[in-house]
Amino acid sequence: MKVIDYINEANGKTLVSFEILPPLKGKGINALWEHLDPLMEFKPSFINVTYHRSESMFKKKPDGTFDKVEVRKRPGTVGICAALMNRYKVDAVAHLICGGFSKQETEDALIDLHFLGVNNVLVLRGDAPKNESSFEPEPGGHRYAIELMQQVNNMNNGIYLEEDLKNATKTNFCIGVAGYPEKHFEAPNMQTDLAFLKAKVDAGAEYIVTQMFFDNQKYFAFVKSCRDAGINVPVIPGLKPIYTKKQLSIIPRTFHVDIPEELSSDLLKCKTDAEVEVVGQEWLLKQSKELKAAGVPVLHYYTLGKPNVVANVVREL
Ligand code: FAD
Repeated sequence: MKVIDYINEANGKTLVSFEILPPLKGKGINALWEHLDPLMEFKPSFINVTYHRSESMFKKKPDGTFDKVEVRKRPGTVGICAALMNRYKVDAVAHLICGGFSKQETEDALIDLHFLGVNNVLVLRGDAPKNESSFEPEPGGHRYAIELMQQVNNMNNGIYLEEDLKNATKTNFCIGVAGYPEKHFEAPNMQTDLAFLKAKVDAGAEYIVTQMFFDNQKYFAFVKSCRDAGINVPVIPGLKPIYTKKQLSIIPRTFHVDIPEELSSDLLKCKTDAEVEVVGQEWLLKQSKELKAAGVPVLHYYTLGKPNVVANVVREL
C-alpha cells in the first residue's frame, strides 16, 4: 500500500513509521532484525530504508603508497526493503538519491523495486562525499531531487530511458520528498527553499518528510509557511533521539539543525551517556506528545542505534 493511502485512510489518526540504515558492507542482516523486531509491536505503517553512495577511500599498497578507491559502504537498500516486507508484512519505503548514481543505475534500481512490490520511494538529492566541498552530480546523473522525481514519474507513465521501448510496464511509485523546517543548508533563504519544495510537490510528490528538529515550534512554523506557499500535501515530522553527549556537536554540524538551549543545558549537566539517554528520551516523548496532540499525520522516527529509546517513547504515546 502507498504511504499516501495510509495517511488518507487514517482519517486524522497519527500513524507511526521508522527509518533504518542498511548494514555496513560485509555485516549480516541479523543485527538489523534484532534492531527492528522489538519495534514491530507498534505496528508501523511503513519503514524507510536509506540509500547510500560510494565514498573515496585510500587503500595502502604493499609498497607503502596509497590507491584511491571508491567504496559503497552501505549497499543493500533494495534487498532490505524486500526482506523486511517479507518478514514483517509491512510496507517499505526505499530512499533514492541522485549523488553517485547514473540515470541508468537508478532505472535498474527502480525496476528491481517494482518487481519486488516496493511501491514507495523517498526521492532525494544526497550530499557531497565527506571529502568534497560541494555536491556534484554523477556524469549521466541528476543534479536535483526534482530531476530524479521526473525519472520516477516517467516510469510511472511507462517511459524508460530507452525511449523506443514498446509497451513498457508502468511502475506505480508513490513519491515522497524531503523538507527542512530549519531550511536546507545550501538554500540562500527559506522562501527560495520553499519555492523549490513547492516545485517538487507540483511535480508530483505526494507527501514531505522533514529533516529532524528538536523544537516543535520550528515544525509548526514550517507547516504554516508551506501552506502559505501553496504546498498542501502532508508534512511528516522526522524525529531523532539524542543519547550521547557527542551528538550535541555532531547533529548541528551534520544536519544543520539547532538544539534548543533548554535541551542542551540539561544534556550538558549529564555525567554519563546513560544520563543523556534519559534526558534525550524525555525530550523525544515531550515532542512526540505535542505533535500527536496537534494531529500530525505520522510520527517518523530515525531509529538508528537506539531502538529501545524509540520503543519507550512510542509505548507511552
Ligand atoms: P533537493 O530538493 O535537490 O535540494 C537541494 C538544494 O538545492 C536545496 O538547497 C534546494 O533549495 C536547492 N534546489 C532544489 N531544487 C533546485 C533547483 N531546481 N534549482 C536550484 N536549486 C534547487 N541522504 C542520503 O544520502 N541518503 C538518504 O537515504 C537520505 N535520506 C534522507 C531522508 C530525509 C527525510 C531527509 C530530510 C534527508 C535525507 N538525506 C539522505 C539527506 C539529503 O540527501 C540531503 O539533505 C541533501 O543535501 C538534499 O536533498 P534534497 O532531496 O532535499 O535535495
